[in-house]
Amino acid sequence: MADATQPMFKRLALIGIGLIGSSISHAARRHGGLVGEITGSSATEKTRETALRLGLVDKAFATAAEAVEGADLVIVCTPVGVCGRIAEQIGPRLAAGAIVSDVGSVKSAIVADMAPHLPASVHFVPAHPIAGTEYSGPEAGFSSLFDGRWTILTPPEGAEGEATARLRAFWEGLGSRVEVMTPEHHDLVLAITSHLPHLIAYNIVNTAEHLKRVTDSEVIQFSAGGFRDFTRIAASDPTMWRDIFLNNKDAVLHMLGRFGEDLAVMEQAIRSGDGDTLFRLFAEARAVRRGIVEAGQDTAKPDFGRGPGTGAS
Ligand code: NAP
Repeated sequence: MADATQPMFKRLALIGIGLIGSSISHAARRHGGLVGEITGSSATEKTRETALRLGLVDKAFATAAEAVEGADLVIVCTPVGVCGRIAEQIGPRLAAGAIVSDVGSVKSAIVADMAPHLPASVHFVPAHPIAGTEYSGPEAGFSSLFDGRWTILTPPEGAEGEATARLRAFWEGLGSRVEVMTPEHHDLVLAITSHLPHLIAYNIVNTAEHLKRVTDSEVIQFSAGGFRDFTRIAASDPTMWRDIFLNNKDAVLHMLGRFGEDLAVMEQAIRSGDGDTLFRLFAEARAVRRGIVEAGQDTAKPDFGRGPGTGAS
């Protein structure tokens, strides 16, 4: 039975202290009863200094292996592409009974990369908080990042229910809502809701940038016409997004194929002057936006609540 005088986890180890790692620390500290001590690791001295100065960690280490000593919860908060290597480094140093998790934006590849290096004495429960900003590093985090947002847990088949339940309670303590699904289903859902929109944003911003020479900076001047919102998404960290596309290849290519087919329908409707089809497709898409606002996942305020004078047209 849980002891109300003890924190849920005695020692949390954060491997990587960037936007997500630092936000977990802020949110855990805000709650009070979630964690006792927090350790963290980063190979970069400046990150370790910043993490100590901001009180994100009680102890900062240069290696992940040192940071996980004695931890009963370990969360890997690095780019997806290095999670396997980190699992290899921490595997021999993990405390028996510890829960090992991550925050990576893809799940099947992380399970494949990390699981083989983790000892049978720990519980591996991968996770992905669907919350973020386009900023990176230990100073980018804030305590309310996960409030009301979803975190998806993808425990491997046959994983102990108790470890998943404890990690669910931890993320709920950080302010998140929690859903459990398979890694494969996660990757398909995120391919269409997150990965493809980022690919489109990166591409449209680059296309406009290439046109800029022709339009003599009008791209920047009139960016409120929709382009500006793509530039915010396209400001996301290139390392993180490179790793996401390399590690969720099949699901992204599948969704890209579907996207291409739907785009061809719109292209044909424009070419043939088929206003009925365009109106129907736009009305269907508008209804999706209403659903997102009604589900509390965004503001209904005009122009995302940016205030007067900045409205898009
Ligand atoms: P971030 O702010 O760039 O921080 C990344 C951290 O990982 C830094 O501490 C960095 O260390 C460390 N790191 C980078 N390369 C490493 C390597 N080769 N070996 C060991 N450590 C390394 O990134 P983030 O936004 O927190 O993202 C971290 C994870 O969260 C990613 O897997 C991403 O998919 C996931 N995620 C991100 C978002 C988002 O919107 N940003 C949302 C949900 C999930 P240094 O201090 O040495 O640079």
